Amino acid sequence: MSDRPASADARLLHTGAHRNSGDPIVQPPMLTSIFASQGDPGDALAYARNGNPSWTALEEALGALEAAEAVIFSSGQAASMALMLALARDRDAILLSRDGYYMGRVLADKLRPHGATPVLVDLRDLSEIERELASHRAVLWAESPTNPLLRVADLAALSRLAAACDVPMVVDNTVATGVLQQPLEFGAAASLCSLTKSAAGHSDVILGAVITRDQQLLTDLRSWRTAGGGIAGPMESWLALRGLKTLPLRIERQSQNALAIAEHLASHPQVLAVHYPGTAPDTVEIARAQMPRGFGPLLSFEVAGSAAQADAVIAASQLIVPATSFGGVESTWERRGRWPGETAPESLIRLSVGIEPAADLIADIDQALAAGPA
Ligand code: PLP
Repeated sequence: MSDRPASADARLLHTGAHRNSGDPIVQPPMLTSIFASQGDPGDALAYARNGNPSWTALEEALGALEAAEAVIFSSGQAASMALMLALARDRDAILLSRDGYYMGRVLADKLRPHGATPVLVDLRDLSEIERELASHRAVLWAESPTNPLLRVADLAALSRLAAACDVPMVVDNTVATGVLQQPLEFGAAASLCSLTKSAAGHSDVILGAVITRDQQLLTDLRSWRTAGGGIAGPMESWLALRGLKTLPLRIERQSQNALAIAEHLASHPQVLAVHYPGTAPDTVEIARAQMPRGFGPLLSFEVAGSAAQADAVIAASQLIVPATSFGGVESTWERRGRWPGETAPESLIRLSVGIEPAADLIADIDQALAAGPA
């Protein structure tokens, strides 16, 4: 046996797996709400809202990916809520991206009475960030690439600005996942991931996680999870771990497909603009440095025409499924502006690229664009 440390991809597969003769390789989902227990429960298993062996292997695998520890929650939003509550105490502002995931802004606004006031910023504008950091005791809630405009922020530069003001930086890493991008290596205090998307990858589970090396934050997150009750179900945890094991394979293929489609759409006469980290001229070098293994499965593009014409393109697809969310093995798309509260341009279609052969996807997109607009 060599003593060479295993790569993160290998650790992802093996962490949490049993190795003793007769043990199951995979921790089966433990479908119980209580464990036999009496007297002082201490840290022992007693009630499954406090702790459940079904979570352990998934948390270990997520932690192994980012050389840190993970706390899983019932959804990405439950993870965000616990993280905002844990970090925003005694702070007066939470700086959020103007064009990031809109429910992050909705959540921060709802938590205003219990935490900090949301302040919207452009994460690419470092002088704006510096100004806002100087005028608040803040939390910096970064997202890169953003959903749905796929804008890339310079995480190392942001974390330097945050550190200079003693501000914790969070990175919503849902689009890239820990396989493509490692926010903690760029100075983030925590990385947030909706496992619902690429991490689990099969459009069959809703879960979320926070990954951090900060022991106090881990304690606070677990305590919010126990008190708030946003816990992961055993079956969901099992499904997410099963999906996570193939994440490196899937997301590299999805990234190759997405890059090919973004390049194809760039010269399409019915497309006004394409948004993809791998083709955005101003930030592609930052993206290359931050996401060395690929630019991710998500891209968006603006159809030359009205919202109704973009809807007609969606309706004309024969392969790509009309649906929200992203990161699944099957390609899906939607006109993003159909969601109330979303600020994306009206004719913007967000495409989640799956693992189908790229040529099939490009053929479907071309025929939908040709058939769609009246
Ligand atoms: N962060 C981003 C970037 C997302 O796109 C989403 C969901 O779309 C979330 C967080 C929330 O995750 P969930 O839907 O698992 O609650």
